Amino acid sequence: MAIPGVPLFPVTVVGSWPRPPYLLRALRQHQSGQLSAKEFNVQADKAVLECLKYQDDAGVDIVSDGEQRRDNFYSFVVEKLDGAKLMSLAELMNHVEDKAAFDQILRSQDAPAFAIHNTTVVGKVKRRQSLALDEYQFLRKHTDKPIKVALPGPYLLTRSMWVKGVSDAAYPTMESLATELVQILRQELIELRDAGVAFVQFDEPVLTDVMFRPDVKERTFMCASMAASSGNPQQEMVWAVQLMNAVTRGVDGIQTGVHVCRGNWSRKEEALLSGSYEPMVMYLLTMNVDQLVLEYATLRAGEMAAFGRFPRIREMGLGVVNPRSDDVERPETVVAKVKEALKYFHPDQIYLNPDCGFGTFAERPMNPADVAFHKLQTIATAAKQLRKAYA
Ligand SMILES: [Zn+2]
Repeated sequence: MAIPGVPLFPVTVVGSWPRPPYLLRALRQHQSGQLSAKEFNVQADKAVLECLKYQDDAGVDIVSDGEQRRDNFYSFVVEKLDGAKLMSLAELMNHVEDKAAFDQILRSQDAPAFAIHNTTVVGKVKRRQSLALDEYQFLRKHTDKPIKVALPGPYLLTRSMWVKGVSDAAYPTMESLATELVQILRQELIELRDAGVAFVQFDEPVLTDVMFRPDVKERTFMCASMAASSGNPQQEMVWAVQLMNAVTRGVDGIQTGVHVCRGNWSRKEEALLSGSYEPMVMYLLTMNVDQLVLEYATLRAGEMAAFGRFPRIREMGLGVVNPRSDDVERPETVVAKVKEALKYFHPDQIYLNPDCGFGTFAERPMNPADVAFHKLQTIATAAKQLRKAYA
């Protein structure tokens, strides 16, 4: 459904924002038990308001809380669920059969193993509290704008949380865990809608990993997929679609989207995946969501002609700036990108956003806040020009 009150070519974000140093410090202290949740939230509240101000000043129409309370885009669920635990990659290493190969993958992908923790299922998973309602409620008190909340998608959560040798005592198969997680995400979606969230975006970046590297058996963190896939990309995509549709089926009255990118943990372009969305488009379009939030600023994403055979079926959350580069794009570049998208989408189907968040992992922001701010400003300037041209 369309979000009431937003202009044509709404400007929005993908979710995360770089954490200020005081927040990062507080996060680590909180994780090691030196800081209570209440004390941590005082710092996080402050950071969320700073992040909101950046978005307001830049001209963002649909705002997020910058995921300031989260360690990364998926592991935060550990605080909200029973039966899940943060395990460092070093700890998980003990459960990986081919340790040398695992280590090699981490190094070749520029992954800071020491910094990354994986949310791992260690028992029966139960929702202790809502995953993101607290984030939303705080932001709601401080803005009248529509709010977007990002949640990890059901496929990503299943693949990341199920670790053989650790999770199989509670859930013998990944599929059995998936059934549980789908119910949790569905309940979450309904609660967020009832609370007034305008837009829920499910993050499924792992799908590019599935599609572009079917031969890799042990996977890593962006990927957020500790468990091996079947090695059959088509089968995995069909499963990902089924899980998403089980989450969203029949839930109306809220804008939904799926975000798929090629990784956002390194500024080394060669460490990230490359490839067109082309082989994924037919699957993404059968997901029961309103919008595909895709990266198109990076050349690694290929051509928008991937939608040539299936135009105007879904809305497009068009990635128009690269969160990982120093250079701030020019509004003309963004306008040109949108003109290209208009070959495949109606004007009112196009939302404008960066390719991904600016701070997917708390430890590894892709840009400082001032650069991120200027990039959002560029998008807003381009949106104004486009509104004049296409009103
Ligand atoms: Zn992303």
